[in-house]
Amino acid sequence: MAQKSETITLIGAGLNGPLLALELVKRGFRVEIFEKRPDMRRVQMSAGRSINLALSVRGIHALSQADLWNQMREIVIPMKGRMMHSTSSEITFQPYGRNESEVINSISRADLNIALMNAAEERGVTIHFQKRCIGMDLSGGVIHLSDETSGKEQSRAVDVVIACDGSASAIRGEMAKNSSFDFSQEYLDYGYKELTIPAAPGSKHALDKNALHIWPRGNYMLIALPNVDGTFACILFLPFSGQDSFDQLGSRAAVLDFFQSRFPDATRLMPDLLENFFANPIGSMVTVKCSPWCFEGKALLLGDAAHAIVPFFGQGINCGFEDCTVLLELLDRHDADWSKIFHEFDRARKQNTDAIADLAIENFVEMRDRVADPRFLLGKKVELALQEKYPNRFVPKYSMVTFLRVPYATALKRGRVQDRMLAALCAHIDRVEELDWTKAEKMICEELTPLECN
Ligand SMILES: Cc1cc2nc3c(=O)[nH]c(=O)nc-3n(C[C@H](O)[C@H](O)[C@H](O)COP(=O)(O)OP(=O)(O)OC[C@H]3O[C@@H](n4cnc5c(N)ncnc54)[C@H](O)[C@@H]3O)c2cc1C
Repeated sequence: MAQKSETITLIGAGLNGPLLALELVKRGFRVEIFEKRPDMRRVQMSAGRSINLALSVRGIHALSQADLWNQMREIVIPMKGRMMHSTSSEITFQPYGRNESEVINSISRADLNIALMNAAEERGVTIHFQKRCIGMDLSGGVIHLSDETSGKEQSRAVDVVIACDGSASAIRGEMAKNSSFDFSQEYLDYGYKELTIPAAPGSKHALDKNALHIWPRGNYMLIALPNVDGTFACILFLPFSGQDSFDQLGSRAAVLDFFQSRFPDATRLMPDLLENFFANPIGSMVTVKCSPWCFEGKALLLGDAAHAIVPFFGQGINCGFEDCTVLLELLDRHDADWSKIFHEFDRARKQNTDAIADLAIENFVEMRDRVADPRFLLGKKVELALQEKYPNRFVPKYSMVTFLRVPYATALKRGRVQDRMLAALCAHIDRVEELDWTKAEKMICEELTPLECN
């Protein structure tokens, strides 16, 4: 590929930045990234290190396009379904899909980030660490940076900026100074805390490693995702205040009592619970929606900078990587006409990212509140039976989002129609065998066209 004259400047070497950067280099651009953190390959950083991500089809597609999926395969653990743990330590398994290929993949955020940064650098990307972007003159095309070690500030002329600087994006902050910029952010009144289940002797997993474990407790929950080293990365999601909240867990005795009474089987597997609990911060979760995502052909928001979502559908990075796929397709079509590319990107993605933001909130209620409900489990069985009989018409919402690259907006719309059908079909039955197939067929053929997807 011939060398292009423009340099593309990315802000943020989190997950989207390095992936996009290496694909831009492949297309002949010079690419530099400015990242506020130190290089995690050289400096020990604690917060966020143990969090795992669930990678699914959209993320895998983008990694495959970048020739990275085969390498990543080595560091993921497939999870076939949800394993629910009741207060009396009973276990129920609910598969995510219909077969072995319909799984989601647990990967350590830090391992993924390191692999992406290594690949980006190998392909010629320059990453400048500890350089925080503190603003941008959007029309003049100048970014302002602060050196995190010396505190020295510097301004730099840039050709094109793509902001991959996460949910508190500095570039978005500049765009928001324009009065026609629409912006909303909604924080959940829940926080999260990372905890760990260590490996059993011989680096074995202490729980079934091919499942996402959930301890649903109505108003809050604990989840655990497997790591390749035998550990599980756990996350406790809990309200900040009120009954059963972080506010009430101020002492060692309160934490121990809470865990032993609510998650007895998990607590037995966490010898370092109290140390972890008090060492790790409480994270917050936010949905960000904004528009437009670009300023002329000079700056674009991508990933969480444009559309942060809550983590309950496991789609944040899958959605961000899909952003990269769409942007690169537009770049290949419009040959660096950045203004056109950025505006088309915004038009193509916005309705879809708004949709997954809404789906993620809905899934939060489902995971913490409904997965243990027998009526919900019946609905899931009926859903699978309908999918079996009408595979290209009735496709569960979870499958459309996780196993197919159906636009998120389509998944949301069809999902709502299907939810209505399921409610009607399950209203008077207690077993899947009692399903009224004539009624089901009529509804499905009348209301659902065959699903188109790539
Ligand atoms: C608890 C939790 C669980 C999650 N689970 C999943 C999951 O299972 N599956 C999934 O797909 N997604 C999940 N997500 C979401 C996912 O982590 C995000 O969507 C993803 O990290 C976004 O990538 P990004 O590159 O846009 O931003 P980030 O990964 O946040 O990276 C932004 C980068 O920019 C840097 N930066 C920020 N500001 C500046 C600045 N001013 N100057 C320079 N650099 C800056 C940051 O240091 C960081 O390196 C989860 C999120 C959370 C919080």
